[in-house]
Amino acid sequence: MLIPDPSLVVLIGPSGSGKSTFARKHFKPTEILSSDAFRAMISDDESDQHATPGAFELLHLTAAKRLQYSRLTVIDATNVKTEARRQCLDVARKYHLPAIAIVFQLDEATCVAQNQQRPDRQVPDQAIKRHIATLDQMVRQIQHEGFREIRVFRTAAEAETITIKRQRHDSWKRHLNGPFDLIGDVHGCLPELLELLTKLGYGLEQIPEADGGKVWEITPPDQRQLLFVGDLVDRGPDTPGVLRLVRHAIRQGKALSVRGNHDDKLQRKLSGRDVNISSGLADSLEQISREPIGFAEEMRGFLDSLPLHLVFDGGRLVVSHAGLKSELHGRDSDRVRAFCLFGDTTGEYDQYGLPIRLNWAADYHGSATVVYGHVPTYQPQWVNKTLCIDTGCVFGGWLTAVRYPEMEMVSVRSHGKFADPKKPFMPTEESLPPT
Ligand code: GDP
Ligand code: MG
Repeated sequence: MLIPDPSLVVLIGPSGSGKSTFARKHFKPTEILSSDAFRAMISDDESDQHATPGAFELLHLTAAKRLQYSRLTVIDATNVKTEARRQCLDVARKYHLPAIAIVFQLDEATCVAQNQQRPDRQVPDQAIKRHIATLDQMVRQIQHEGFREIRVFRTAAEAETITIKRQRHDSWKRHLNGPFDLIGDVHGCLPELLELLTKLGYGLEQIPEADGGKVWEITPPDQRQLLFVGDLVDRGPDTPGVLRLVRHAIRQGKALSVRGNHDDKLQRKLSGRDVNISSGLADSLEQISREPIGFAEEMRGFLDSLPLHLVFDGGRLVVSHAGLKSELHGRDSDRVRAFCLFGDTTGEYDQYGLPIRLNWAADYHGSATVVYGHVPTYQPQWVNKTLCIDTGCVFGGWLTAVRYPEMEMVSVRSHGKFADPKKPFMPTEESLPPT
């Protein structure tokens, strides 16, 4: 079983079903928050039911602090009542982390027998009966409560044989500290990308790929790594060429890319989903149709592998297509996903048909530098510690890179205007970035 790390793991089951034994086997003592231990902490007696409200108050507070610090946390309590699980889910939701349910739905005889083996204390058989009756009513409901994943054990053997593997959240690149070259929205502008890479000191060589196509292989200067802020595709003249270059570089460990809203939509289209063909998607589909058989499926898989955001350098650098508020850095929820792809929007649209945006950057007071793209600006734009490097290459502007940690900008001029944005984008020579 794969457990996302960080996440909140909620054990659910009657007394004697083996929750604490399971927790001890698979998790560190500091990761396990057990209601018994919290009861003992405040009353010197782990079975003192009078201490239960206080014990849970402390347990939930501790869970909240651990999730705030992005620590995997296991709640070891019966959790058979809806209200108990709701409190767990609320904490996970507050910190934008997934909650995982592990349900011990063992039969009464087994729970009672196991409970009687316990050297320390025995819960009355009646209590176990009550837990089982409550849980039996709940197993269907649990599916709809908001857990990311639910695992149900129906026998002790099942619980005993399971192996657990932790999966670090895919934003987790804190150990990488560059130097990086971050690249703004490319949108299929391969010639400008090649020109920018050359200007940044990358070597370029065209080599054959397995499907008969050709790919540009890059040689970075001085162990630098490329980081793309997403929107690799759509509108521009060579989306397949850009996808090949970025995929090849990522495979070679020379680059990483987050997913932009255009990359996400193309991925959904290639997966057979019904999406609105607009904003340059038709160009990408037409270009992909001219590639060898199998290319579309390859790229569907590649686009699907792109993370929504990345956190580098011990948390000092965050890369996300549409930016990211500090409380969402390194976190994993629907809200994080929507923010990374589309930014903070009001749900309403302006006179150009574009979503009305909330100015998250103006309110940003985080310590990490956030580099992003998504909305073209005439100049690379610093607002607090956020930097937008989408300078509208595909709309006739520039393709911009920023070097990290130096924070030097490098731009190349667009070779033409490949699409008309919904909102006029008319850079003048004065408004363009320095080279
Ligand atoms: P909890 O009340 O759900 O936390 O259950 P515990 O983990 O404390 O387990 C209750 C008793 O059952 C303990 O004495 C365990 O040693 C025993 N136990 C737990 N899991 C198993 C199992 O898989 N097989 C057997 N035979 N005993 C188990
Ligand atoms: Mg226990």
